[in-house]
Amino acid sequence: MPTFDDRSGGFPRGLELLHDPGLNKGTAFTAAEREALGLQGLLPPRISTQQQQVDHVIYNVRRKPNPLEKYLYLIGLQDRNEQLFYKALVDHLEELSPLVYTPTVGLACQEYSHLYRRPRGITLTRYDRGRIKEALLNWPHRKVRVIVVTDGERILGLGDLGSNGMGIPVGKLSLYTACAGIDPAACLPVMIDVGTNNNELWSDPQYIGLPEPRLEGEEYDTLIDEFMEAAGDVFPRVMIQLEDFGNRNAFRLLDRYRDRYCMFDDDIQGTAGVTLAGLYSALRIIKGKITEQRIVFLGAGEAALGIGNLVASAMIRQGLAEEEALGRCWFVDSKGLIVAGREDLNLHKRRFAHDFPFHRTLAEVVEAVRPTTLIGASGQPAAFGPEILEAMARLNERPIIFALSNPTSRAECTAEDAYRHTQGRAVFAGGSPFPKVEMNGQTFVPGQANNVYIFPGVGLGVMASEATRVTDEMFAAAAKCLDEQVSKDDLEQGRIFPSLARIRDVSAAIALAVAKVAFAGKLTAMKEPSNLPGYIKSLMYDPVYSSYVPVKKHG
Ligand code: NAD
Repeated sequence: MPTFDDRSGGFPRGLELLHDPGLNKGTAFTAAEREALGLQGLLPPRISTQQQQVDHVIYNVRRKPNPLEKYLYLIGLQDRNEQLFYKALVDHLEELSPLVYTPTVGLACQEYSHLYRRPRGITLTRYDRGRIKEALLNWPHRKVRVIVVTDGERILGLGDLGSNGMGIPVGKLSLYTACAGIDPAACLPVMIDVGTNNNELWSDPQYIGLPEPRLEGEEYDTLIDEFMEAAGDVFPRVMIQLEDFGNRNAFRLLDRYRDRYCMFDDDIQGTAGVTLAGLYSALRIIKGKITEQRIVFLGAGEAALGIGNLVASAMIRQGLAEEEALGRCWFVDSKGLIVAGREDLNLHKRRFAHDFPFHRTLAEVVEAVRPTTLIGASGQPAAFGPEILEAMARLNERPIIFALSNPTSRAECTAEDAYRHTQGRAVFAGGSPFPKVEMNGQTFVPGQANNVYIFPGVGLGVMASEATRVTDEMFAAAAKCLDEQVSKDDLEQGRIFPSLARIRDVSAAIALAVAKVAFAGKLTAMKEPSNLPGYIKSLMYDPVYSSYVPVKKHG
């Protein structure tokens, strides 16, 4: 009989089996399994196939009155029957991923304390200092290969949600499993609750986190340092993904740990990967070259600067001098255009500060810089108003407009606005999903620059190659590979990302590209398997029930 993980004490039976979400199959236990595993009388008599159960799940999801109810139903299923949850998610990813992740996860995080039912993952606080390793050892699985960790300071575009941000690591890891087949037992969500500066949470009696100000300075760093070290000790070969840390810590932590641990920051590097891929594909539609683009970013935070750095290095790889590549990327932050004359710039922004007159508003910047591409990552809803979009259409035959801010309510513009104010000439992508737009008898299919196209594949590639570091070169390779997954047919419909229905193949291809970078760059002590694509596929968890009892041979 399969044991599936490293539990000791044998295979569970009876109610214990039904209450084990990793093994439970609910009404799909066969007569032979019911007989052999002490399940007689514990289940309704009619036996379902897994497909019938998936249909039942979808029927129930569709009956729920709103996205939050649908989210709760799905999380409940994940707690009861993991294989069915993942089978439904894999088979209906386009319908269900906006429910288990963005945009619905944003609503779920805002309500997390009120909706709280049971723990998932590990939560650490300053009171665990000196004992973080012990806390991690309480996790029942030893073969953890991916940790997603947040301190809840910048949840999507929603700001500081403290401990309520735990919905994010939970959701992201579901996508690692659904999209790249990382075994759920190899995934660990972690919340480091360092307090919150969101006073509304303090006064909420139901808030599940620490109602105290955020740790800062050395105390904060010591806590995160201890976590990083303990995670590597307890789970050798684990990859750690930083998620939704505030701007002031995200870059610092990435700089501090990237050469010491196998880690990356998805908001900086994952976003950069998916956006660069979208840009490559958009340029195939408009027949442009990346080295000829002038890009204006609204926002100069984790997402925008991460994209700027990766795009600049792509331009350099294609022949531009560093200065020229940086000179093609322009940033506007909350104070205005980033130029050399400003004295309030940190090191990351200074890299893109050009000798140029200062302009306060985006409208002025668009007229002065004359961008070919406009990328929003500012969390400022409707910042790309009609005036800006019309200017982009006046300056370019085919403007590229990416409104990346999440959730949907924070997007710089909607897909419909982008097409309407450019007479359908824009190539558009959003951070959240937007519906198709019908205009003048034409159908436009907006792209979604969803990090889910990148991070699961990167994780699988790192895992397969046993890479000890996650590098920018891996994200560049992932972006190139993702662009290659977009077919001519996709491009003809205006799609700049592949259909989510193909995500497992896309992730496997990205994993191969990433693993090749690891082997070529000697980022691993592992010997390259002779059939690397086959090896990668063999690692992918498939949420299809297997038999728990030997199948009787007839005849
Ligand atoms: P951040 O806090 O690091 O950066 C926000 C930036 O916006 C800062 O530079 C700030 O100065 C700037 N800003 C704020 N108000 C502004 C204004 N009025 N005008 C111009 N700039 C302004 O946050 P981040 O991690 O960079 O994320 C920004 C947004 O991008 C969020 O909404 C997030 O959800 C979204 N995002 C999308 C994706 C994706 O689509 N794949 C990935 C990551 C982040």
